[in-house]
Amino acid sequence: MSVLYQNFEPELKFFGVMNGYSESHTNAFFFPDPETIVLIDLSALNMHKASRLLENCPNLKHIYACVTHNHYDHVQGLEMIAFSIRAFFPGILLTLIVDESIREETVAHLDTGGLKTIINHAGEEDKVYELYSFDQYGTAYSFYSKDGKALQQMLKPNWFVRTLPTTHSPRLKGSSGFAFMIHEKLVVFSGDTNQLGPYVAFLNDMFDHQDDRDNAQIEFYLDVTTRKNEFHLNFMDVCDELTKLLSSYPKAKIILMHYDDPVLLERQVERAMPGMLNNRVYLARELGL
Ligand SMILES: [Zn+2]
Ligand SMILES: [Zn+2]
Repeated sequence: MSVLYQNFEPELKFFGVMNGYSESHTNAFFFPDPETIVLIDLSALNMHKASRLLENCPNLKHIYACVTHNHYDHVQGLEMIAFSIRAFFPGILLTLIVDESIREETVAHLDTGGLKTIINHAGEEDKVYELYSFDQYGTAYSFYSKDGKALQQMLKPNWFVRTLPTTHSPRLKGSSGFAFMIHEKLVVFSGDTNQLGPYVAFLNDMFDHQDDRDNAQIEFYLDVTTRKNEFHLNFMDVCDELTKLLSSYPKAKIILMHYDDPVLLERQVERAMPGMLNNRVYLARELGL
């Protein structure tokens, strides 16, 4: 894999890094261990890249997709990847992980995309994916269809910490970020959001003493835009809070994503947070795949 930054190897790799109007939709992935891949959202634009990546990893035993919300730049590739997994990994189902608030919308989206669970000729349920929705306490229940009953509680994968519900678009029932533990680093992924509060509150909850904050290894992936927009954070509106966050957490790094204009954003970071660009604050970069 290519080196994207000097002296920094982020835990998350990106198929794309910009907003829904661009040719580079913000979708990411990581390998918590050599047999497991976790996709974070998947748009139609990135589904071929994701499919090729999976084909090149024949030893995978677990394939997850964490879904932040049901906008097209985050979910329209899920149908294809579920069918690719069926073709290339017999016996493995795509496991979707969502916040409780977006479960229904996600299942409805997948139903219309052809992933509805059916009863096959042998009278068994024929599933193309399984879906686990987590509540805010990090408890998971599995559902196999919109009408399906809650089955047993899921055993949390060791890389999963919790979903981080946020606000984004009033047209959607919900939207959430995720917290992961990857190679002993806490990775906070905002998803699409128009507020910073839930992530800062989560971090301050996790690390309530300055001693712990001093040593916390954190990568914080954050949705920002350069132009004002009611659905996303405006970088200039949050730069002071981000500066404060970085001084409370001296080992944290912030990776900006889902942006609209990388050139202008870099200029804004340089101006508003002097000395931080490519040192504590980075722009997410697309991995050449
Ligand atoms: Zn988006
Ligand atoms: Zn969105």
